[in-house]
Amino acid sequence: MTLVALIAYAVHIWYHGPTANPLPTKIQMTLDKEYDYIIVGAGSAGCVLANRLSEDEHKSILLLESGPDDAGYSDIHVPAQVHSLFNNPEVDWMYKTTPQAQACLSMENKQCVWPRGKVLGGSSSLNAMVYIRGSPYDFDRWEDMGAKGWSYKDVLPYFKKSELNDNPSFAAGEDHGANGPLQVSDAIHVDLGSNYIKAGKELGFDVGDVNSGRQESTIMRTQLTVGRDGVPQYSHGVPETRTASPKPARCYNDPRH
Ligand SMILES: Cc1cc2nc3c(=O)[nH]c(=O)nc-3n(C[C@H](O)[C@H](O)[C@H](O)COP(=O)(O)OP(=O)(O)OC[C@H]3O[C@@H](n4cnc5c(N)ncnc54)[C@H](O)[C@@H]3O)c2cc1C
Repeated sequence: MTLVALIAYAVHIWYHGPTANPLPTKIQMTLDKEYDYIIVGAGSAGCVLANRLSEDEHKSILLLESGPDDAGYSDIHVPAQVHSLFNNPEVDWMYKTTPQAQACLSMENKQCVWPRGKVLGGSSSLNAMVYIRGSPYDFDRWEDMGAKGWSYKDVLPYFKKSELNDNPSFAAGEDHGANGPLQVSDAIHVDLGSNYIKAGKELGFDVGDVNSGRQESTIMRTQLTVGRDGVPQYSHGVPETRTASPKPARCYNDPRH
């Protein structure tokens, strides 16, 4: 896999009728002449889109990814190893910021490195797995600028629908979901974290839930998209195969799933 090569990782998912083929989901490396949907980029958004569209077993979907399969990179599957993936041209686009006037002062040419995933799973294969929603202020501002249906009030039901929060008090509250596919758990307790929270309190921050809509004024113990059993909840990997019954494709390839 060279740096510049555009690797068309073509995943053709289609479902046959239940009796036509015992393996309703198929992965194929050759291309058909046409598809109902073509998705460019198998990152967070592309994988979720492929998953949702493939719930309709009669639709064919082509998911294109320019980076390699994530299966060859064991560090992707160990969240604590994430830093080893930055600056690896096989899985990182190796972007840099433009030279900065007031920031990146210790960096060569005042340019910070700006990692973005170039691998199945996209940036979700390189990210820190912190469960943090966008700021309500940003969503509302986008709507004000014309993106109808993107206010925080509009997107909140989808955050909740996708979430399986295993913190009982969050799961029982108004702001979180408890039945979605994405597991969210409290990070493991460390003393340093408690000290940060104590310091934040002293500075006047509320200790609460940053995902409850008061992001800017609140601090909390981080929640992660990692299951309680420690299994990372990636949106990457090749779609699931060999299901006994028609089932939406998921961009998962972690052997622990
Ligand atoms: C280092 C790092 C840490 C982060 N930490 C967190 C975190 O803790 N919590 C959090 O919520 N978010 C975090 N993020 C942000 C989050 O990962 C991204 O916002 C999210 O993954 C973006 O999803 P996306 O689908 O828009 O893009 P991506 O996931 O980046 O997917 C884009 C995909 O498109 C592919 N592609 C691009 N061009 C082409 C082309 N021409 N043809 C085919 N394929 C193409 C790319 O290779 C890539 O796989 C982090 C991001 C980074 C980089």
